[in-house]
Amino acid sequence: MVKVDDYAPIVGEGEVEGIKQLAELIKGEKVVHINATPYGGGVAEILSRIIPLAKSLDIDANWQTLKGDTEFFTVTKKMHNALQGNQEVALSEAEWRHYFDTVRFNSSILNLEGDVLVIHDPQPLPLIEYRRGGKWAWRCHIDTSSPNLRIWGPLMELVQRYNIAIFSLEKYIPRNLETQVLIDHPTIDPLATKNAGISVSEIEKTLNRYGVDPERPIIGQVGRFDPWKDPLGAIAVHRMVKARVRAAQLVLIGSFAKDDPEAAEWYEKAMAFAAKEKDVFVLTNLDGVGDLEVNAFQRAFSVALQMSKREGFGLTVTEALWKGVPVVGTRAGGISLQVIDGATGYLIDNYEEAAEKTALLLKKPWLARELGQSGRRHVKLNFLITKGIMNYLRMHIELVGKRN
Ligand code: UDP
Repeated sequence: MVKVDDYAPIVGEGEVEGIKQLAELIKGEKVVHINATPYGGGVAEILSRIIPLAKSLDIDANWQTLKGDTEFFTVTKKMHNALQGNQEVALSEAEWRHYFDTVRFNSSILNLEGDVLVIHDPQPLPLIEYRRGGKWAWRCHIDTSSPNLRIWGPLMELVQRYNIAIFSLEKYIPRNLETQVLIDHPTIDPLATKNAGISVSEIEKTLNRYGVDPERPIIGQVGRFDPWKDPLGAIAVHRMVKARVRAAQLVLIGSFAKDDPEAAEWYEKAMAFAAKEKDVFVLTNLDGVGDLEVNAFQRAFSVALQMSKREGFGLTVTEALWKGVPVVGTRAGGISLQVIDGATGYLIDNYEEAAEKTALLLKKPWLARELGQSGRRHVKLNFLITKGIMNYLRMHIELVGKRN
């Protein structure tokens, strides 16, 4: 089982001591996290690591997920798209009703008793109506900088009822939100199977298993099959890179999350587009690409792409940088916080520029190495789980006061 002391060799004794001291103040407190899916996507990734770590600190941390049918997740994906800026989205009265009814049903099967309840993203947001006690935090992981107000308006009324709302970046905070707010950058766990060091033979074995040539340059994008992640854009960039570096290969990895009904459609689109291209590999969790394989591929990338049009934070960027891989990415959301242009990778405005920078890094491995190493330092200082748990502990203390 994970222990906070295990992180000392990475982040230092001081940081670990600080965490223990904070945890001591709220030992035994019950924290309940609720989100939409147990796997797939960044929220599940974070919770799967932060809950065991909190438990190891004697916090009674629990994680529950919503139950919903396809119609529910279709509605909530529309909400997600609307919050990220799709102005076309509208929901019918029946869709709103189904959303509220599903959450009401969940309120009867979830355990909502706790000192602090952390509700993640719009899917479980109306649970606040069934509050029986405790302090409630709404953690928003998506980019709400230019939301569709038809959808955001009614949801904001629910957000106002929480004790605190937490956003990944300052620019996501709605101007007229009256409740208390907090900024919390998402973090990755360096000890997780996805991020821990692995052997060279494991990397080579993974590449061989999927037919990727270990002796040629590999560029890659990891991310759900979703219009915002622009998987087709990554393929377009690869085509342009190949005009400059013929040996380049692209590995596109995406997963099918329970709460994402758009994945199948975008997977098909990516497959159809990739079929016309040479040296493009489209892989998913259904091909057996789990945490270890993602880790191996990310370590084999010469350059990681993140062509997202919108990005709440982009843990995939954090993961690549932690592995010393430079990232060529758009300026969307949290990417620009992680990719420091010219220092940990390159920020680009279009496909052509992405191809140019990627080719540059393929041609100059020494430059890629320098940027990758700066990227790892940047993540170590700012985006590791020890910072994440510290923020949760501080928030908890702020909400309930010191108990011990
Ligand atoms: N992920 C994965 N397999 C995939 C695609 C994504 O394990 O095929 C993981 C990825 O490694 C990262 C998370 O899902 O940990 C995605 O988080 P991110 O913040 O990048 O995006 P989100 O999906 O939350 O929008």
